[in-house]
Amino acid sequence: MHVPLVLTDFLDRAVHLYGDKTAVIDGERKITYQVLQERVNQLSHGLKSLTIEKGDRVAYLTPNSLEMLEGFYGVYQVGGVMTPLNTRLRPEDYVFILNHSESKALFVSEELYPLIENIRDQLESVQTVIIHGASKEYENSLNYEQWLTDFPKEGFEGEPLEETDIASLLYTSGTTGDPKGVLLTHRSNYLHALTTMHHLRVRDQDTLLHVLPMFHVNGWGSPFYYTANGVTQVMQRKVDPKQILHTIEEHKVTIMHMAPTVLNMILEETAYTNAKFDHPLRIVIAGSSPPPAFARKVEEELGWEFIQVYGMTEISPLVTISEIRSNVEPVDHSDRARLKAKTGYELIGTKVRVMDELGNEVPHDGISIGEIAARTNNGMEGYYKNEEATSATIKNGWLYTGDMATVDKNGYIEIIDRKKDVIISGGENISSIEVEGMLYEHPAVLEAAVVAVPHEKWGEAPHAIVVVREGHELTEEALLTFAREKLARFKVPKGVTFTDQLPKTASGKIQKVILRKQHWDSEG
Ligand code: ATP
Ligand code: MG
Repeated sequence: MHVPLVLTDFLDRAVHLYGDKTAVIDGERKITYQVLQERVNQLSHGLKSLTIEKGDRVAYLTPNSLEMLEGFYGVYQVGGVMTPLNTRLRPEDYVFILNHSESKALFVSEELYPLIENIRDQLESVQTVIIHGASKEYENSLNYEQWLTDFPKEGFEGEPLEETDIASLLYTSGTTGDPKGVLLTHRSNYLHALTTMHHLRVRDQDTLLHVLPMFHVNGWGSPFYYTANGVTQVMQRKVDPKQILHTIEEHKVTIMHMAPTVLNMILEETAYTNAKFDHPLRIVIAGSSPPPAFARKVEEELGWEFIQVYGMTEISPLVTISEIRSNVEPVDHSDRARLKAKTGYELIGTKVRVMDELGNEVPHDGISIGEIAARTNNGMEGYYKNEEATSATIKNGWLYTGDMATVDKNGYIEIIDRKKDVIISGGENISSIEVEGMLYEHPAVLEAAVVAVPHEKWGEAPHAIVVVREGHELTEEALLTFAREKLARFKVPKGVTFTDQLPKTASGKIQKVILRKQHWDSEG
């Protein structure tokens, strides 16, 4: 018997077993899984009326919201391909992605509509624009809530889905260059959900706070496995540390996923010291490796469990997790924080290896550096309309990540840096992540990024760009003296630039590509 692995199964299960349980809390709105299914059915009927068919791309430009979650299942029921858009792009990026994906319909929330209002005549494929939360009439656009009421709540029967159908077209963050469209099948997203719900120990008693943007790969997979388990999903529309702390308390949130930069904001909140909730909280950190000091603070001061995961859009989204394994020797105190904060072990369904340039595994010695490659059930089919990039990334059945790492005798993988961020100074590889981790240990440092600048003698040298914590003072000399005490000489930044803020992607990653460009010329 062949039953295809398709994502609509997850909502079916939730309705079957948890129909009267709260599915979504979005501000004042609270709805059950039964009502979610009804709204999803209305949406699917609506999409059909717009002639959305199997394989058609449907774009979403919305913050984390009820509408976004129902979008997933509404689009899948008609066999459409969810194409979420990063909410922090420039109008010309939307023109590029919407035309590149040939999206037929665009759902956009009222607050984000100004981003596309003036580019609508440049959109070649979008036939319909539907506005969420519209408080007034907009020209040539449908009002989502009004439009939904035209359609029945029951009985949506779509064309049968196959597990090899494309479910999602996700664009990469564009941290290192232009975003690339990643094609993921139902099977790939489905298997990822099963794997991750196991590793994160998701249970129906959980309450999730969606902090990571759902449009981004890090937040992408989670609506599947939390829905499948009948978990209540609370929507965090904006990153606001005070509000996050308040919501955790109000709704007794037990698990949340976030970028380290957001965690840093929470740790900066003075209120956090009182935030010792009387219920357990797991915090899943995705997207980049925070300094081990974060993990220590979270576990020791807050009593929250800290979990680090690693992945990327192309292996969507995760391939490793920082579990503490029972069959390896106990780790000492400081080692625990390091192991929790760094990259981790491969997930079920995934082989992760660190390869040298000839495609052989590097020795498991914790020192030899190679590129992370993965063979996984949740890998992409390829980049959309970009054969060249696909064949440069998937080689001999392995997906090369462009991330450099070491692996120790226990198989623990520790990210060193992106290939493009490694600083090569006098023939030595310097991990920008390692230098940043040390700078974060300085009490006056709020945020730090380290990039390569040209150096007469060594070719490249590290340069630090630092945001100083409010109420503190810090000079270049003081920070460099601190760095000299903690780092090998060649790793110490040659200079420091102080700034008020660092450029970041919508998922909270520091865009070193921009910093590198700025400083390569000016500091060289
Ligand atoms: P683009 O590919 O467009 O330049 P991007 O690589 O940032 O953007 P994503 O797919 O969102 O796009 O991010 C994946 C990358 O994020 C990984 O390749 C890795 O460099 C980084 N990353 C993810 N998880 C971690 C982690 N736990 N520690 C360090 N880096 C991480
Ligand atoms: Mg990438």
